[in-house]
Amino acid sequence: MKNIYEETKFLMKKYNLTANKKLGQNFLIDDEAINKIVDSANLTKEDLVIEIGPGLGTLTSMLLEKAGKVIAIELDDRMVKILQDRFLVYNNFELINEDVLKVNLPELIEANKQFKSVKVVANLPYYITTPIIMKLLENRLNIESITIMIQKEVAERIVATPGSKLSGAITYSVHYYAEPEEVTIVPNTSFIPSPEVDSEVIKLVIRKEPTLELKDEKLFFNIIKASFMQRRKTLANGLVNGGILQNKTEAVEVLKNIGLEENVRGEELSLEQFAKLSNEIYLRK
Ligand code: SAM
Repeated sequence: MKNIYEETKFLMKKYNLTANKKLGQNFLIDDEAINKIVDSANLTKEDLVIEIGPGLGTLTSMLLEKAGKVIAIELDDRMVKILQDRFLVYNNFELINEDVLKVNLPELIEANKQFKSVKVVANLPYYITTPIIMKLLENRLNIESITIMIQKEVAERIVATPGSKLSGAITYSVHYYAEPEEVTIVPNTSFIPSPEVDSEVIKLVIRKEPTLELKDEKLFFNIIKASFMQRRKTLANGLVNGGILQNKTEAVEVLKNIGLEENVRGEELSLEQFAKLSNEIYLRK
């Protein structure tokens, strides 16, 4: 049996293929990393897996063995041809040739509701990591977990404790919807072609119930966005520059009301403190 490196080389030669950098094509050639992704996704035959960006189908073939059904969403027509050749004999495989950001995921999940749970598993195209993650979370899809390979630097931000140095807007957004865990770090040499940076596999376990009481969810996310737009500025300035509050005096007053110093920075706040801030601002609107 070929290992993944040999199989990838073989497929690229057979189909006369070069990776399209613009589509974030870095093919995983590391058997150990693939096994870790699949193991941590914890799949059973009762699961529907949605795979984003299957590429040559390396991960797909493992997913098909473990899951009840795999729906693979791939934008590149050249990959679609390969995937059809490889997997259309499987009756538990469905291929969607579309930009994942345009796919109606709620409809797709509803059409497959015979499965006990839905899990997303993917080696994501890095140029649209954040929009994909936010689409999966914000739509409140009926999914249990998201196991993804992403850039290590982005992974570190996502798994950071909200309120710690590494936290950014994405830290708060992800922690609001899910519990993130680190799975494994994958060096850049584990891909063809090698990306410039290392990668990391993380798993987001979706929360069944929100942990925060928010008066206005949209306002909460707008406040977080405004707070991180200019990282070096204080939170009070961020709130004013982001159009959330009218002026610095008002911003300082709001912060004081919830027990925060006037020169506090956004990244110093916990998720609960952002919720408190958002509810306080909501009352003034
Ligand atoms: N899963 C394969 C692997 O692990 O080797 C390929 C992963 S590669 C990092 C990302 C894949 O996402 C590529 O196959 C690329 O064509 C696909 N892709 C890029 N943009 C996409 C989009 N907007 N919608 C769906 N797939 C996309």
